[in-house]
Amino acid sequence: MSVIDDLPPLRAVIQSHDLSARKSLGQNFLLDLNLTAKIARQAGDLSDCDVLEIGPGPGGLTRGLLAEGARHVLAIEKDRRCLPALAEIAAAYPGRLTVIEGDALEIDPLAHLTPPIRVAANLPYNVGTELLVRWLTPPDWPPFWQSLTLMFQREVAERIVAGPGSKAYGRLAILAQWRSDARIAMQLPPEAFTPPPKVSSSVVHLTALARPRFDADAAVLSRVVAAAFNQRRKMLRAALKGVAPDIEDRLRAAGIAPTERAEQVSLEGFCALARAVAAP
Ligand code: SAM
Repeated sequence: MSVIDDLPPLRAVIQSHDLSARKSLGQNFLLDLNLTAKIARQAGDLSDCDVLEIGPGPGGLTRGLLAEGARHVLAIEKDRRCLPALAEIAAAYPGRLTVIEGDALEIDPLAHLTPPIRVAANLPYNVGTELLVRWLTPPDWPPFWQSLTLMFQREVAERIVAGPGSKAYGRLAILAQWRSDARIAMQLPPEAFTPPPKVSSSVVHLTALARPRFDADAAVLSRVVAAAFNQRRKMLRAALKGVAPDIEDRLRAAGIAPTERAEQVSLEGFCALARAVAAP
């Protein structure tokens, strides 16, 4: 194994700090520093960036991010048992790691970060999806982040990058692809983690676009897409009845047949529909 840093191996860190994994916190740790360095590399050139890491745990990915040259890492961790291990990493990389103890869903990290900012995380999947949706729907665009490099269970990753015509295609795909480039950067088997989860995982990398891919009002697009996919098996003229009384005309104005189903409509089509719905 190549030497990534001068800190003890992660298995020793876990033993010395008694960090037995807790299911309630979604703890499946990455202990192979070659692998965490590889994930960190997916985040792009970190040397001129602050990196926001959510859920560092014993610090495997944190060490990868620092070893790959991150200017500064701000890590938010809910489990205070991990703090001594993270303090050792901070001491090995003076001035480059700040750790905040707390719930990432409740902490606003922006006061502690200097742009440009990239986000990297191996998070419990439910927290990851909630944060992803928040990061994709800020009040203004472009967002605070340049890129997001996030671990998800494979099925969620496929929903983020899906195109029309597939079962995985839905709100998450539209939300992600409207204003960012989204791709699966790595696939990881369950054995990559300690303890291994039941399912395979994928690292998804999203790069924020300067402007949305197609014009649309964010709130209208979100309402249309939610209604369309809430009843994804229905024809759009039925699924979208509540969106506008003359929805059939508006669908036609957007170039969409009222008999189509949500799964068949492209991102461009949904944006055209959002514009048609917002029109007087
Ligand atoms: N990043 C580490 C790694 O790759 O080995 C740990 C990954 S583990 C899947 C998820 C981590 O997120 C755990 O350390 C857990 O304590 C932390 N966590 C869970 N919920 C959190 C929350 N709401 N806010 C911050 N951290 C959280």
